[in-house]
Amino acid sequence: MKRFFLFPFASLLLAPLAALPPDGTVVNEMHGGQNIFIYADQAGGPTDAVRISGNVNTPKLVPALVDSKASNVKTPYRPDKGGVVLSFDDRNFSDWLEAMPLFKQYGVKATFFISGSIDSTALDAARKLQRRGHAIGAHGLHHLKAVDYSRKHSAEDYVRAEILPQLKAFNAAGITPSSFAYPSSQDDGNTDRVLLKRFRHLRTGGAMAAGEEIRGKDIFYVPANKTSTRGCLHGKGIDYAPSMNDRTFEQLDGALERAARNNEILALYAHGIAVSKRGHHVTPRALEHIFRKAEELRLPFYTFDQLP
Ligand SMILES: [Zn+2]
Repeated sequence: MKRFFLFPFASLLLAPLAALPPDGTVVNEMHGGQNIFIYADQAGGPTDAVRISGNVNTPKLVPALVDSKASNVKTPYRPDKGGVVLSFDDRNFSDWLEAMPLFKQYGVKATFFISGSIDSTALDAARKLQRRGHAIGAHGLHHLKAVDYSRKHSAEDYVRAEILPQLKAFNAAGITPSSFAYPSSQDDGNTDRVLLKRFRHLRTGGAMAAGEEIRGKDIFYVPANKTSTRGCLHGKGIDYAPSMNDRTFEQLDGALERAARNNEILALYAHGIAVSKRGHHVTPRALEHIFRKAEELRLPFYTFDQLP
C-alpha cells in the first residue's frame, strides 16, 4: 500500500485512462479543474494519514476516476437493520457536486430531489450524482405546494401540472425517479394517495414543538422491515444544524442511536451544502458529524431508490 504514498501525479496522468484509481481516491471537481485527494483509512488506501491534492486539468480523468467501482458501490438494503435515508432538495447542484468528496469519504449515498425544469443543467448534475451511486427524485416543476394546489384544482391536476412534465423529461434522459419530495412539506392523505400511483415513496417533513427530542418522535422513524408498507416518509430537517434546538448534535446523535438500537429507518433532509450562504443549507461540518456518528453506530445510508 506504500505505493499510494508515492503515487505521483505524473504517473496518474500518464496511466491509461481505463485504469481504476486506488480505493480511497476522491475526486473533487471545483472551479473547472479536478483536485484529487487520496485519503487514508480506506480499503486499499494508504495506511498513514495522507492527503495529496493538486489541480489537474484533464477532462478525461474525471470519468475514469468517478466511474470506478469504488465510487458507486452501495450498501445492500437489509430489512433487519436500521439506516439513514438522507436527502437534499431544490437545485443546489454546485453545492452537491462540490460536497461529493465528503460523501465518498464516508461511503454515504443520498437522494437528490430536483425542482424546476429538467433542463440540461439539471440532467448534467443528475447524471454526475447517479454515477456516484446517488439517487434522483422529483420535487415539482414549479415547486408548488401540493395541498394548496389540490384544494384549488385537484390532486390529479397537481400531478399533471407539477409531476408529469418532470417525469417525462427525466424518462427521456433515461432517469426514472422512484420518489418525490413535497415542496414545503405540504401533504395530506389525498395527495399521498394520488402521488403514490406514480412513486414508490414520498418524503414530507415533520414539525417539532419546543423541548421535544427527535429520538422521541415516532413520526421520523419506520421499522426497517416495514418500509415497503410506508409510502410517505417524514424527514427531519437538518439545515442549520447544530445551531437550532431541534437539531443540535446531541439531538442528532440521539436520533441516530435510536435508529441503530431499534433497527429503524431515519429520514433526514436538507437543501444546500455550504459553509455559509443565504439560502437553506447544512454545513459540511454538520454533515461530517452525522456521517461519523452513523459510522460509529454501523448505521448504513440508503437512497430512496433502495427502499423496498
Ligand atoms: Zn424545495
